[in-house]
Amino acid sequence: MAAELYAFTCGFLTIPHGFLLEGAHGQITVPIPSYLIVHPNGKVLFDSGLNVRTQTDPEPYIGPIGMKFNTFHFYPGEEISARLRAMETEPGEVTHLVNSHLHYDHSGGNAQIPNADVLVQRPEWDHAMALPDEDPGYRKVDFDTGQCVRRIAGEHDVFGDGSVVCFPTYGHTPGHQSLRVRTSGGDFVLCGDACYLRQSLEQLHLPGVIADREATLQVFHRFRQMRARGARIMFGHDPEFWKTVPQGPQRLG
Ligand SMILES: [Zn+2]
Repeated sequence: MAAELYAFTCGFLTIPHGFLLEGAHGQITVPIPSYLIVHPNGKVLFDSGLNVRTQTDPEPYIGPIGMKFNTFHFYPGEEISARLRAMETEPGEVTHLVNSHLHYDHSGGNAQIPNADVLVQRPEWDHAMALPDEDPGYRKVDFDTGQCVRRIAGEHDVFGDGSVVCFPTYGHTPGHQSLRVRTSGGDFVLCGDACYLRQSLEQLHLPGVIADREATLQVFHRFRQMRARGARIMFGHDPEFWKTVPQGPQRLG
């Protein structure tokens, strides 16, 4: 069975370039991507973008450290619920919400997806829930939002037919995961933050901020193998790459 894949962005962030690429200087403005996967047995969202509070009044939500390192470019109509409606999908119709990880730019819209089961790797959930509220990367208000949370361990085939498969890509965070989607147009690898930039995969150039260097390099090698077998790699925050991505409601695959 093949699924339909739609890609779209929910705003942009300006952050230090060195966070994304070790040794780089200055700032970089990056897209915040999400994906909708339409399968005969359900609708899957991969990541939910930024919290709508960052459109108007980010400081009480993101805190002083967050304000120092982030400039939000995020406007009404770009939040996840609006993006879904533009693709004729009501947020309440989403059956599965896969979070690559629980950083605020990937889980900030979870509260807008009320009826989905949340699929997150167990080490990511445990790590995030154990952190203090003032952690710069994680906000419990984003992901502790009351849906059924399925803490998965390792690879997980969402519909049991190989079309939508979560696989662990630990390294960026302790429990990061990526998603493989099989469409009629071929396989796609939704990296999340396991590989931000095309340059990182081409040159094995690590980001500046990661939980585990060795694990991140192993993930890069796995992505290269998947690419060699024909999969298209969807880089997590690459501004040049995202200029080339057809966005919903246009179908990607
Ligand atoms: Zn991110």
